[in-house]
Amino acid sequence: MKKIALLALSCILITACSKQESVKQSEFMLDTICTITVYNENNKEKTADELISEAFELCSDYENILSRTIEGSDVYNINNAGGNPIEVSDCTIEILEAAKYYSELSDGAFDITTAPLSILWDFEGDDPHVPAAEDIETEKAKIDYTKIKIEGNTVTLEAPVEAIDLGAIAKGYITDKLAEYLTENGVTSAIISLGGNIYAIGENEIDDRPFNLGIQDPKAEDGSIIGYVTTADKSLVTSGDYQRYFEEDGVRYHHILDPATGYPADSGVCSVTIISDKSVDGDALSTSCFVLGLDEGMELINSLDGIDAVFIDNDGNMYFSDGFENGEIEYTSADSAE
Ligand code: AMP
Ligand code: MG
Repeated sequence: MKKIALLALSCILITACSKQESVKQSEFMLDTICTITVYNENNKEKTADELISEAFELCSDYENILSRTIEGSDVYNINNAGGNPIEVSDCTIEILEAAKYYSELSDGAFDITTAPLSILWDFEGDDPHVPAAEDIETEKAKIDYTKIKIEGNTVTLEAPVEAIDLGAIAKGYITDKLAEYLTENGVTSAIISLGGNIYAIGENEIDDRPFNLGIQDPKAEDGSIIGYVTTADKSLVTSGDYQRYFEEDGVRYHHILDPATGYPADSGVCSVTIISDKSVDGDALSTSCFVLGLDEGMELINSLDGIDAVFIDNDGNMYFSDGFENGEIEYTSADSAE
């Protein structure tokens, strides 16, 4: 009896010892908290810690090119060129082409030339406030993505457009680049989280199951999760009215603007989550669908192959795209997961 008990104990110990630990690092970048967790890698030369550090260096390189506020970045140079052509890097061209594509697809709901309007509302500054109606009209007239002219690696903003901001698409684009980098370097199981942008590389190889990616409860002040999407090699991006906002006279004003009105989008939804292969698509579509609202947004998502969505309306009702209804993708509410 004793022998059997000891044998059983040693088996448990061996299992416990052979269980790997995940390796995790967080950095404040892209104006948000970014976390990379590696669950498994097959790299003979570099540790998971080294690979994560290199991925963060890459993230910082992209931020220095794509940020609107960092002096000397491509976007800074484009915005300060006074309408003259500016030579930019390949990645800036790639992201601008993607942004223009999503502007067309969303019929202008997504438009990176809303920048002057965002600056007027000052969501990211020290003094966010509701601007005067005539100022909103003036800045709204500067929105028109068709005036971003691209020729080779040269970009020109034609009048009336004065500035662009990639805040609605850059995190998705960078997430894809970091996922590519880690995968090329032997990482087979990891989670990249850049603020609201999450990407799962492979499955959780420590627990031997797919990753459960959480959707935040938009009404909970403590950031708790409302439910999980079970997936592998997918991106999950959320645009929500709780992510950046200010309150004035008891009214909440959030950061996603409707280019048609110049005011925060008031489409009846408070959170849109997109599940896609590429995070750049998810990022652009989450912002687009937030502006479009449930009916138009869901129609758009269901017309696109390999893209799924979860919408939450202002009353807390949840709506799922066809992929969930067909069982291609799995959602578990936090209550039933407990
Ligand atoms: P996201 O959190 O990805 O939905 O992006 C929101 C950010 O994108 C805002 O903080 C603005 O910088 C910018 N933005 C706001 N409204 C729009 C819009 N309609 N189209 C494109 N970018 C926008
Ligand atoms: Mg976005």
